[in-house]
Amino acid sequence: MSAVQNVAILGATGSIGRSTLDVIARHPDRWRAFALTAHTQSEELFALCARHRPALAVLTDETHARSLRARVREAGLPTRVLAGAAALVEAAVDPAVDAVMAAIVGAAGLAPTLAAARAGKRLLLANKEALVMAGPIFMRAVAAGGALLLPIDSEHNAVFQCLPPRARGLAACGVRRIVLTGSGGPFRTRPLAQLALVTPDEACAHPTWRMGRKISVDSATMMNKGLEIIEAQWLFGAPASQIEVLLHPQSVVHSMVEYLDGSVIAQLGNPDMRTPIAQGLAYPDRVAAGVDSLDLARLRELTFEAPDFNRFRALPLAYEVLAAGGTAPALFNAANEVAVAAFLAGGLAFPRITEVIEATLARIAPTSVDSLEDVLEADRAARAAASGILPLKLTTAA
Ligand code: NAD
Ligand code: MG
Repeated sequence: MSAVQNVAILGATGSIGRSTLDVIARHPDRWRAFALTAHTQSEELFALCARHRPALAVLTDETHARSLRARVREAGLPTRVLAGAAALVEAAVDPAVDAVMAAIVGAAGLAPTLAAARAGKRLLLANKEALVMAGPIFMRAVAAGGALLLPIDSEHNAVFQCLPPRARGLAACGVRRIVLTGSGGPFRTRPLAQLALVTPDEACAHPTWRMGRKISVDSATMMNKGLEIIEAQWLFGAPASQIEVLLHPQSVVHSMVEYLDGSVIAQLGNPDMRTPIAQGLAYPDRVAAGVDSLDLARLRELTFEAPDFNRFRALPLAYEVLAAGGTAPALFNAANEVAVAAFLAGGLAFPRITEVIEATLARIAPTSVDSLEDVLEADRAARAAASGILPLKLTTAA
């Protein structure tokens, strides 16, 4: 491997993508942005190409790629511009690429993330939806390809840091439980009767983290934590009975691992995704990430509370989905993606997001996952069902 590692950033224009570029730019002796991808944001991607001079840039469609290509040529940049799903996979598996940051939001990131796993890359996984929907296929691809899978989601990155190096199974490590912390989002204490009126901008105004809009809404419903429970099962081989959720509004303790002897090991830090990103990039080394020192004296108190499963219906639903297994997580994820998109577009009241997920799960029975096609079929079926449910009037009492 060369001294400078080539990094492909899938979803470079997003919140995680930009934080990754920030960390990389601090260490030009260690990493170089080799490939950058985005959906349709050709202007934003051009600005990133001008700044980071990648070898490859990928957009979803040819129209946007054409305009980026023209700008790149005009500016004399060394960047090849491609479009489409195959090009996204190409960016992830290019033999010159050492590490892949999987930071596309939602199911759209599944194919290139799986490809990076099969290609045996150092795989920095932010795109939790890919793992949630295709857990068994994904973990098999990681094993078959010999990929080094590093969790970037702050909670899972914290758990990874609290486990012994090269941990092989929780029982062998003497783990009693994993405690995933969550802030509870912007509506943790909002009277339930007022939730029908909240706007997308209010839902996206997260109290402690700055993130993309989809995950911000997921944090407000705590669907994000639901997805993370499933993510933890796959990443750490943890049964549902060993994964707990604890509300922690300050977002300083990023998660904890409790051992059989009563020891609890936690990972703390300011809520800044550059910490897990730098940890994943440099592992097992440590590098500066531009993150301020944690000032506990100034914070003075850290508080914790049990989550209210009636307020945050996504949490009990996630445990039900884990128990059901098979394609249930793919159905759960797809219904959420449809409902969140409708909410963000102004077409669905906030409390109905979880209702649409619940109604979708009630309509489609999960099947076993034997191939990727089973997952994709469940994803399609849940999207169709959820889209059909959206216009229906549901009530929480139903
Ligand atoms: P974001 O919306 O800010 O960025 C998403 C990126 O994906 C953009 O570059 C966008 O162009 C690209 N993209 C969107 N749709 C696409 C499509 N159909 N095809 C190809 N590319 C597409 O999202 P984010 O907040 O950076 O989150 C990215 C992922 O990381 C999500 O899976 C999220 O759950 C996870 N994550 C984010 C954070 C965070 O702090 N932002 C923390 C933990 C996990
Ligand atoms: Mg998280």
